[in-house]
Amino acid sequence: MTLALADRQEGYYRHTQPLGTRGDFTTAPEISQIFGELIGAALAQSWLSLGRPVPFNLVELGPGRGTLMADALRATRAVPGWLDGMELHLVESNIALRQQQDLKLATHRPHFYDTIEALPTNRPQLIVANEFFDCLPIHQFVRTERGWQERLIDIDQQGQFMFRLDHRSLTLKGIEAMAIGQVIETSPTREALTAQLAERIAATNGLLLIIDYGSLMDEHGDTFQAVRNHQPSNPLVDVGLSDLTSHVQFNPLKSAAIKAGCGVFGPISQHEFLNRLGAAQRYEGLSETASASQREILASGLARVIDPAGMGTLFKVMALTNLPEVPGFLPQEGTQPNIGALSA
Ligand code: SAH
Repeated sequence: MTLALADRQEGYYRHTQPLGTRGDFTTAPEISQIFGELIGAALAQSWLSLGRPVPFNLVELGPGRGTLMADALRATRAVPGWLDGMELHLVESNIALRQQQDLKLATHRPHFYDTIEALPTNRPQLIVANEFFDCLPIHQFVRTERGWQERLIDIDQQGQFMFRLDHRSLTLKGIEAMAIGQVIETSPTREALTAQLAERIAATNGLLLIIDYGSLMDEHGDTFQAVRNHQPSNPLVDVGLSDLTSHVQFNPLKSAAIKAGCGVFGPISQHEFLNRLGAAQRYEGLSETASASQREILASGLARVIDPAGMGTLFKVMALTNLPEVPGFLPQEGTQPNIGALSA
């Protein structure tokens, strides 16, 4: 999964144009401008709650075409002081997408990074990651008569990729009782990244919003998928030409963040989050000056991203922060930072 997505020459997220009708998939900010605008409002409000630190880092992980950030910054530009002290940092591996982000966000002079490790850590940071964690690699384990065996990729006698179970079997604590054939997924990469960002937030103040598809509870089963031209595809064919993802398991990320000394809010569903941030009011406000056809686009786009029978429920939002409250979340949805965790 790492090679297929991130290899310097052949990796999917190095050389393709993944987003949009001519790409392979679309995302919430590409469907509704209100999505990025409300996230911008939540970030700016959190900056106020942090005591308007200046300077501060505004960070996006995997900004795609730069649409979310452009909408976020346009909607919040009237917040006094917010843009003056802001430095924009974008983590993006895809050169073609970087160029689009650079063009769209030129007035904010973005800084680009290949990896999270390279991001500056010296000041408060507000970070957003929409559909970023789902493309970080996972492991799959299958329950067999011999215990748990990892599902690996091998090459068959014709030289084609194939799935194969590792000959070694493992004992996975707490889930021995699952039925034969059951699959579970883990992602040490996602957990390590979350822990690293949580440590930084605990040390320098700030907020990370993770938005992605996944389950509120621990989820079992095979969620690995390949998508090409907006259709499911075979992950073992034309490697490097399809997007490979899996559902994000939020609970292990939450535990990793709490262990790193950071507070966590959620996860909650995207429709709850956007509705609480004022999606309907934003639509009404934009509609006042919109033409009939613009209103139609605004209404259908918003309906799609908040649809409780679709994206509104499939997608979840979780916040890592040392703030006592985060816009879009109820106080009881939060776990306060455990100050003793770091020294323990
Ligand atoms: N957030 C955007 C795009 C989501 S697609 C949106 O909502 O529209 C995933 C994004 O993460 C793309 O910009 C992709 O190029 C980037 N990306 C994927 N894996 C990455 C990695 N390992 N390092 C840096 N960027 C990555």
